Amino acid sequence: MVGMSTATEPASVWAHARRTLSGLPDGAGLNIAYEAVDRHAAGPRARVTALRWLDRRMSVSEISYAELADRTARFANALDALGVRPGERVFTLLGRTPELYVAVLGSLKARCVVSPLFAAFGPEPVAQRMHLGDAVVLVTSPALYRRTIAPIRGRLPALRHVLLTGPARPDVLEPGTHDMAALLAQASPDHVIGPTDPQQPALLHFTSGTTGTPKGALHVHEAVVAHAATAREALDLRADDRFWCTADPGWVTGTSYGIVAPLVIGATLLSDEGEFDARRWYTLLERERVTVWYTAPTAIRMLMRRGAEEAARHDLKALRVIASVGEPLNAEAVRWGAAVLGRPVHDTWWQTETGAIMIANPAGSDVCPGAMGRPLSGIEAALLQQGSDGRALVDPDGHVRVLDGQAQGELALRAGWPSMFRTYLDAPERYARAFADGWYLSGDIARRDADGRYWFVGRADDVIKSAGHLVGPFEVESALMTHPAVAEAGVIGKPDAVAGELVKAFVTLRAGFEPTEELRTELLGFGRQALGAVAPKEIAFDDALPHTRSGKVMRRLLKARELGLPEGDLSTLEVNT
Ligand code: ATP
Ligand code: MG
Repeated sequence: MVGMSTATEPASVWAHARRTLSGLPDGAGLNIAYEAVDRHAAGPRARVTALRWLDRRMSVSEISYAELADRTARFANALDALGVRPGERVFTLLGRTPELYVAVLGSLKARCVVSPLFAAFGPEPVAQRMHLGDAVVLVTSPALYRRTIAPIRGRLPALRHVLLTGPARPDVLEPGTHDMAALLAQASPDHVIGPTDPQQPALLHFTSGTTGTPKGALHVHEAVVAHAATAREALDLRADDRFWCTADPGWVTGTSYGIVAPLVIGATLLSDEGEFDARRWYTLLERERVTVWYTAPTAIRMLMRRGAEEAARHDLKALRVIASVGEPLNAEAVRWGAAVLGRPVHDTWWQTETGAIMIANPAGSDVCPGAMGRPLSGIEAALLQQGSDGRALVDPDGHVRVLDGQAQGELALRAGWPSMFRTYLDAPERYARAFADGWYLSGDIARRDADGRYWFVGRADDVIKSAGHLVGPFEVESALMTHPAVAEAGVIGKPDAVAGELVKAFVTLRAGFEPTEELRTELLGFGRQALGAVAPKEIAFDDALPHTRSGKVMRRLLKARELGLPEGDLSTLEVNT
């Protein structure tokens, strides 16, 4: 491979990134909350707005770094007063409200492990995750308590304390249930973060469940080194930015970049309690003069579906960077961003397991539409030769074969970057299987071009084998999406006696197009023109493609439907209509 100079050697990259952080006073270790809050509160940024929060009606509240330090200190002291010990797990089930940020950062100060859950989950997925994660404390709202927790509390014997946000509601204050505001009011605002080993667990995130039951990935305090460094490099995030990450903190993106990275950098974090709505989002971008915006391909596609007119009504000149993560970003969406929003969309690739961005088209560099980009500093990526199951081939001695130059294979990362997950909860053997020969095996298939850029092909589980061709569903979906009638597509392999599998596409149309036979024939022809042998042989119109709660198209569900199989654990899913 390419020889590397010492300056870009991963170890020296991370050592340098670590030096941009403060560390706890007196060499007492490294704590995410100290880097994100306390060191700013003790310095010239104390009065700077840390959190600018918009409620559902879009009225604004602001919290400075000093105020955030006060509230999170009280929260940590309140946990201590309740007898909650370092290492114990605190879960949050909250909408995007200021209490969410206070609870997450306050728990980290107390050296508890914190796991934010997505508030739209129903009782089952919440019970599953809290049970797997040994939740000792839960912070939630009275309404969510009644709807989601009351029915399952009896199944969570480890849960000792529930803290309720919002106005006190004596009717829900059962034993072991506390009023968070009252606890904070009683608690002291003085708190010194205890010694924190950088390898101490800090964050517990569940994967999206796109390919199966969600896995609990555990991350340590040292992850903050990667959160900050990657936000600078991939998103060009700076202290004077107004940063909006649209992901909910219930997903890893919403914590790594929706809480930790921007605060560590000292920027102003925007948080919107409201849900996606094209007009609301454009209004927010304009009125709040958002400078760096981190969102998801599914959101960009929804804006595209609404057309360019809505965008044209808003002044988006303050926007310096638009980036996305979570799913393949079609070249079409990158170009649409450049044409309609005034900035191309920068793709970034990473996973719950990686904790931070690994591969990106960094802000400030030329975007290559359709490519995920190149590994960030400190990250060594490789493509590994695949076996017949699509995953990297590991020989009996445990070795893998790293492919050189232009190639296609399982995307792997040299183990050891700071935000790498440290285990899957309750599944250590699964964790062990995720590594071979010093590499973390991502489960995604990618290819590398002559310029060293990585292109997403598909998940190893999703790749279609049709008449001797290996077909990445993303490539087919992207080609279909260049047709003006197509808003979104999901592509699967349908078992076929002759071809093994044949490529079938489910297509959602843009507003104004009708699902006629004529259009179907046209799209089949369009696909053949663009893709040749790997074009879809069947197209079905579907205005409700199944998505995970985090917004990803679930091909395994499309396939289950196609085959008439049971759809599995539907409790964590949402069908977008
Ligand atoms: P599960 O692991 O439970 O099946 P998941 O893999 O969707 O769910 P996440 O960790 O949220 O859970 O998502 C990571 C995955 O999302 C990646 O492995 C990849 O398949 C996809 N992904 C993320 N970013 C990109 C991107 N820029 N381009 C293509 N795919 C992406
Ligand atoms: Mg995954």
